[in-house]
Amino acid sequence: MKKLFCCPVCYKEYESKPEKCDCGFTDFIKEVDYFEESRDLYEKYENDLLFSLYKFTKSVFYGKIPYTPDTLDIVDNPSNKEIYIKGAYGGRGLSLVELTGNRPCVADDGILAFDKTKALIVNVDEITSNLLDESQVKILFLGPRCRIENNHLLRNSIRYLSVHSANPYYYCEDNVLFTKDKRTLLFYPNYKKEEEYRVPSYVTSIEKSAFRYPFNLKKIYVGKNVKFDKEMFVFNDLKHIDIVYI
Ligand SMILES: [Zn+2]
Repeated sequence: MKKLFCCPVCYKEYESKPEKCDCGFTDFIKEVDYFEESRDLYEKYENDLLFSLYKFTKSVFYGKIPYTPDTLDIVDNPSNKEIYIKGAYGGRGLSLVELTGNRPCVADDGILAFDKTKALIVNVDEITSNLLDESQVKILFLGPRCRIENNHLLRNSIRYLSVHSANPYYYCEDNVLFTKDKRTLLFYPNYKKEEEYRVPSYVTSIEKSAFRYPFNLKKIYVGKNVKFDKEMFVFNDLKHIDIVYI
């Protein structure tokens, strides 16, 4: 019989809707066949499934669901003050990356050299700005001490972004990243779904690299006194974002 329910965390398949998967996931949604159903219906299924994976990730992040961290490929150079994480091998929809110890650890580019991970929790000290190159990660959770190199991610497919409330560097609201004092908007995820965005009134400046190529965004509302470079909203002949001053 055809398997109709697939766990987005461990990819185990079921014929009927399970109460709970071995991995802890519960929020099952019946699969929609890409070839048999309309595109709208398939997109809705994909969106719903991503949202249920986001909710699961949030529960793991805040310790409500136990989850085994991924096996890590670590490069420890004793002459260097940091430990580098070069790879994470979990093969699951959610990858939990953490390293405990006294020395700071950096999650480096190439960490997600497998393609199944859609959600990532990084409980490390720093992640490099090209960490997500060529990855499929759509859900990113930054741990309590995690910092992003140069405060931006070069390329990403992020839809949901979250930061631990104890993180001393960042504040996150509506999936957008700000400095802890909320004054600078640092990063807008490329696959955030809305077509419009209103820059919160507490923001006084926008980082030059904050909007790299937001696929869905068409219009931005921003206060007259906010400092930013207008050129950042022009991407090419076909893609630009309308600026509305408020
Ligand atoms: Zn599962």
